[in-house]
Amino acid sequence: MAKFDATQMANPGVRELQPYQAGKPMDELQRELGLDNVVKLASNENPLGISARVKDALQAEVDDLIRYPDANGFYLKSKIADKFSVAANQVTLGNGSNDVLELLARTFVNEQHEVIFSQHAFVVYPLVTKAIGATPVAVPAKDYGHDLDAMLAAITPKTRMIFVANPNNPTGTFLSTEALYNFIKQVPDNVLVVLDEAYYEYIPSDERAPSIEWLAEFDNLVVTRTFSKAYGLAGLRAGFSVSSAAIADLMNRIRQPFNVNALSLKAAEVALDDDEYLAQAVRVNAEGMQQLVGFCEQHGYNYIPSYGNFLTIEVGANAAEIYQKLLHEGVIVRPVAGYELPNHLRVSIGLPKENQAFIEAMERIA
Ligand SMILES: *Cc1c(COP(=O)(O)O)cnc(C)c1O
Repeated sequence: MAKFDATQMANPGVRELQPYQAGKPMDELQRELGLDNVVKLASNENPLGISARVKDALQAEVDDLIRYPDANGFYLKSKIADKFSVAANQVTLGNGSNDVLELLARTFVNEQHEVIFSQHAFVVYPLVTKAIGATPVAVPAKDYGHDLDAMLAAITPKTRMIFVANPNNPTGTFLSTEALYNFIKQVPDNVLVVLDEAYYEYIPSDERAPSIEWLAEFDNLVVTRTFSKAYGLAGLRAGFSVSSAAIADLMNRIRQPFNVNALSLKAAEVALDDDEYLAQAVRVNAEGMQQLVGFCEQHGYNYIPSYGNFLTIEVGANAAEIYQKLLHEGVIVRPVAGYELPNHLRVSIGLPKENQAFIEAMERIA
């Protein structure tokens, strides 16, 4: 048989990659340990369950599934454009915002380029950078968050793109409007700033940056958002970016024609109008955050103050062991050693009883 040395033949950037580590699925743990009650606080999913309005819309859509989806996502783009006061041709839809992040990298970055992001920042940034053979530049964090001055200082003539996550995952750290604006203003015109706002809806409204309005001032800015978190549609995969029309046009040339499926298009459209669900999601998150912060303070655990729907807690050098013990208690959280946070665990905010299950499991383990 002819020998094909797959590892040698793969693109160098791909060869070095580690696959994305997702949160452990609930039914996998149920299967492995024969547990009945499993609580998953591992993937920053929305604990409210699917919105009733979205569910109705999805059911109504099922009969049309023999058709291809609208390749241009006309209705969803129009809705996003209206909501954020931009033109529909500035919107790019993705199969989750991860898809959009990858489209941006593939559109603008090549092997000659460097891509800057922060230490402890979302793992998809180095992943998409390495996949295309570009050079990742991870800038050391400050207090677990982005050190924007150091990121500016890391810009070289080879820099083509900078990823900024606000709030960041897995740290929950947050950049003020002023800090962010001053940063973007100082980035050279030929460097694209990708501002990933996956947790935007959880930011208190008086602290949110008017990032989409900044697009009028900065041609080199792209803002990404998702339906996976506060809108509760992680399983459907829908996200989007807003940018200049020119950037959107280029991304559209390499996008898979049907990258957002018919159910996702429909669900996202309905979700965007579901203010009640969103408000409830934000409220439940704020309460759950208090619950977990209260636990940390009561037991003397350090935690990274978070603007997201998760809390990253310093549990100590035996974090991997605590993670395993929590699994045996039926509680799935997220180890973050891969983010250079070997002493921390990231806990997504759940419903009060789910948070309580985590707290009680931690107390039993201790
Ligand atoms: C969850 C998350 C996303 C969104 O991912 P989707 O592909 O939209 O599900 C993007 N960026 C960050 C930082 C995230 O944590």
